[in-house]
Amino acid sequence: MTNCALVVVDMLYDFIDGSLACQNAEEAVKQTLRFIDSRTEGNEGAENEILDTFPILFIRDHHPADHCSFKSEGGIWPSHCVAGTHGGDIHKDLQPYVVEELTFDKGCDKTCEQYSGFEGVNNAGQSLGEVLELLDTRDVYVCGIATEYCVRNTCEDLLKAGFRVHLIKDALAWVDAESHMAALSAMSAEGICLE
Ligand SMILES: [Zn+2]
Repeated sequence: MTNCALVVVDMLYDFIDGSLACQNAEEAVKQTLRFIDSRTEGNEGAENEILDTFPILFIRDHHPADHCSFKSEGGIWPSHCVAGTHGGDIHKDLQPYVVEELTFDKGCDKTCEQYSGFEGVNNAGQSLGEVLELLDTRDVYVCGIATEYCVRNTCEDLLKAGFRVHLIKDALAWVDAESHMAALSAMSAEGICLE
């Protein structure tokens, strides 16, 4: 049997209400919870079974305080998602679904910008792609922040790796409304399904 999985990209406080707050972020969190509820309905009490058939994987932007993407270091972004700060935490309403082995950190090396969740690794050093393969995943649902950057890069890498990619368009947040719409069109044209 081939499984579905959900990948939640960067639903972190700095992108929701912090230094890099994105448009539609609170709504995106709500829609993510709604999607999770719709997928796990009727399975209460069978937690392990849910995890086996519908794992939820989290991507975290996870920077050192002197990361190269920060304006203070010559980059283009304000300081954000510094490891160990509130701004780098996953939204509290999603916390009940967070499993350490299914959480992937990216941007940990100060010299390297990483938009794609595909470049993240979990606490055992496994990549997102490796773990999705181990879970025998075929269809990957993606939601998160921001459409134009980390969501798009993650979706495109998943597609290249051979997964069927479904983007939950109501569960996204963005830096700029126009570039969000342009990114959706581009991804759709590349073969990513907008749900
Ligand atoms: Zn970052």
